[in-house]
Amino acid sequence: MIKKYLIVGSGLFGAVFAHEAAKRGNKVTVIEKRDHIAGNIYTKEVDGIQVHQYGAHIFHTSNKEVWDYVHQFADFNRYTNSPVANYKGHMYNLPFNMNTFTQMWGIKTPQEALAKINEQRQEMAGKEPKNLEEQAISLIGRDIYEKLIKGYTEKQWGRKATELPAFIIKRLPVRLIYDNNYFNDDYQGIPIGGYTKMVKNMLDEPNITVELNTDFFDKKEEYLKNYDKIVYTGMIDKFFDYKLGELEYRSLRFETEEKNIDNYQGNAVINYTEAEIPYTRIIEHKHFEFGKGDEGKTIITREYPADWKRGEEPYYPVNNARNNELYKQYRELAQKESSRVVFGGRLGQYKYYNMDQVIAASLESVKDEFDKQ
Ligand code: FAD
Ligand code: UDP
Repeated sequence: MIKKYLIVGSGLFGAVFAHEAAKRGNKVTVIEKRDHIAGNIYTKEVDGIQVHQYGAHIFHTSNKEVWDYVHQFADFNRYTNSPVANYKGHMYNLPFNMNTFTQMWGIKTPQEALAKINEQRQEMAGKEPKNLEEQAISLIGRDIYEKLIKGYTEKQWGRKATELPAFIIKRLPVRLIYDNNYFNDDYQGIPIGGYTKMVKNMLDEPNITVELNTDFFDKKEEYLKNYDKIVYTGMIDKFFDYKLGELEYRSLRFETEEKNIDNYQGNAVINYTEAEIPYTRIIEHKHFEFGKGDEGKTIITREYPADWKRGEEPYYPVNNARNNELYKQYRELAQKESSRVVFGGRLGQYKYYNMDQVIAASLESVKDEFDKQ
């Protein structure tokens, strides 16, 4: 039976679901409160450069199904993320690998590096790490923790490293080879021509209508009445009018500048790891596409972490015990609505998803919706 779907949000979760619902012959309306599609992966061309408007986005995955899936909508370049850290003017390669250890300690071999790391880990010997600081020291030792982790992390999360959960730091790989690839995944790249074009291709189906500058909450009851099914990718607590309390988020402020030079910093991403500099990183957008852009021009963006309050962009869910517990209660409310509303994505599922994970989650919801009867 053909159904009428309303997709709230044109980010990756919404766009994948919209595409799949439309392909199955359903009538799909996508509403988006911003003035553009693609959610946080939106890219905009300025001076021939694809500008990542909401922060650096590098596609990486080991999920072959997802990698094949996105290739229907875009070709990818061979960009490999290899950020560099600037700590008080000294440059260190990331992630933590032989290049970093050589720069930090002047050592040359994996054996020397391991000996140094083990010596530094001693202060945590026999203790179970209880917070991010202890986790970092037991993983890599105090020198690297103090110079490359502490300042960055405390700026990013607005809290002391001793008050943060250990799991945040488990994402960072440690390698005893000279390899600056930030990710361990099998596949990596940036869609040629930008992410917006990729999402536009997902939404480019005759039975999909997109309405920009349209907020679900302006006509919530009407939408619930007029559509067979709603796929909601906004904040889950807001959907229920915050009736169980507010979930917490971290926000960001981006400061973008056009420079009349060809090459500002020589790398797409430079992290500023000391506490005294208020931003966490500077992105130079053209380096995601190997310098493509108008001659004599480059665009850079400084990323400042910020506290979140209602009305600001909720970039990161804060998955601590209090918020996860509250989310569980909201999810129970959501389950009661499941015959008419699907909750999805970073905000709808309150999860720190990467792009590949959000696509996989959306395809999972598609399966639940269409293949399990
Ligand atoms: P979103 O992209 O947030 O889309 C939700 C959409 O819903 C938005 O467009 C919003 O405007 C709209 N919306 C919300 N409420 C309403 C409403 N009431 N009415 C109408 N519309 C509404 N992932 C990676 O894999 N690699 C990276 O390098 C990477 N870097 C990142 C860097 C930053 C700074 C951030 C914040 C995230 C990064 N991510 C990265 C994660 C990636 O952005 C997400 O996984 C992905 O964008 C989530 O898609 P989504 O559809 O769930 O959410
Ligand atoms: N991190 C750090 N120093 C760095 C980069 C990252 O200490 O130079 C820590 C920080 O706590 C951050 C976590 O590692 O929150 C995860 O970083 P990643 O770059 O994977 O996360 P993103 O911000 O891109 O989601």
